Amino acid sequence: MEGGASHHLQTGASYKRGRQHRRHPEVVKAGIDALQKYGAGLSSVRFICGTQSLHKNLEEKLAQFHEREDCILYASCFDANAGLFEVLLGPDDAVLSDELNHASIIDGIRLCRAKRFRYKHMDLNDLEEKLKESQSSRLRLVVTDGVFSMDGDVAPLKGICHLAEQYGALVFIDECHATGFMGARGRGTDELLGVMDKVHIVNSTLGKALGGAAGGYTVGPKALIELLRQRSRPYLFSNSLPPPVVGCAARAVELLLASNEIAQSMAAKTMRFRNNMTQAGFTISGTAHPICPVMLGDARLASLMADDMLKLGVYVIGFSYPVVPKGKARIRVQISAAHTDEDIDRAVEAFIQTGRKHGVVS
Ligand SMILES: *Cc1c(COP(=O)(O)O)cnc(C)c1O
Repeated sequence: MEGGASHHLQTGASYKRGRQHRRHPEVVKAGIDALQKYGAGLSSVRFICGTQSLHKNLEEKLAQFHEREDCILYASCFDANAGLFEVLLGPDDAVLSDELNHASIIDGIRLCRAKRFRYKHMDLNDLEEKLKESQSSRLRLVVTDGVFSMDGDVAPLKGICHLAEQYGALVFIDECHATGFMGARGRGTDELLGVMDKVHIVNSTLGKALGGAAGGYTVGPKALIELLRQRSRPYLFSNSLPPPVVGCAARAVELLLASNEIAQSMAAKTMRFRNNMTQAGFTISGTAHPICPVMLGDARLASLMADDMLKLGVYVIGFSYPVVPKGKARIRVQISAAHTDEDIDRAVEAFIQTGRKHGVVS
């Protein structure tokens, strides 16, 4: 839920997050090459005349990256979330969803006729209660963000997968805030927590760490992906992804497949920022995620501090109600692999200087 600050975010948060790949010379070149070779677009949905070899190639690469059987591309992850649940779940089924899941998951679930159970945020006891309550359902799907974008908190996937196994449920994760940089090889939250073989379905975006342009996808069992190609409405009834977008994303995935360096430097820079800020007396929410919410509480303070940071040459955005709960205003910093250690240190210095001015740290 990023709506309330979207006019800032377009240039702020997503800029930083995507920058590692969106400006990468090889990514840009792949986009130009695809434009020249394949054209601007296809004037068609995938199944009519909207599939080129580069779409199939990107689907294969994404399946390989996530170590899943198959992949289906969408125009966005919003569409991937809108298309999945209705196809997979009928009235005899149940969906168990974290109460703080992303808006597009909530909308996707609204479109399906399964019974809905909402469990408390990351609360395994409550999830187990809901699994017990839904025993009579034919098929049950546990649905969670891998990482929750406002606080940068990571879903307890080990426990979720354990419970799902115990109660015979499937597990779905939305990895928009994890794909490309969480885990030792950047595969995502499931890699980080050692459950790649236990999470059945993953949706994610090409619009954040994988080139930052647009596009989304589902990876999972071949039979499911085939079913989605037959039935998923956003896939069937919306235009195919433009070749330059596909070209850029494919190159970004290739870079990540070729080397773990980017993912690992992300982790190191994230810890550098989090540790130095904590040492300076700031409170950073979440754990080990490159989304680093500097918690300030007061909305006016967050906004004033962000203004002062900009004067020092650091572009960060204050978030306040209704984007985050009342009294939990913050500046949400996002670390990018394109940042140097010096960039990070300079940002911390600027935080200390403005923090002192406003009495946040001493
Ligand atoms: C950004 C985001 C989406 C939407 O992705 P798009 O490709 O921009 O539609 C879906 N889910 C989560 C968790 C997100 O953060």
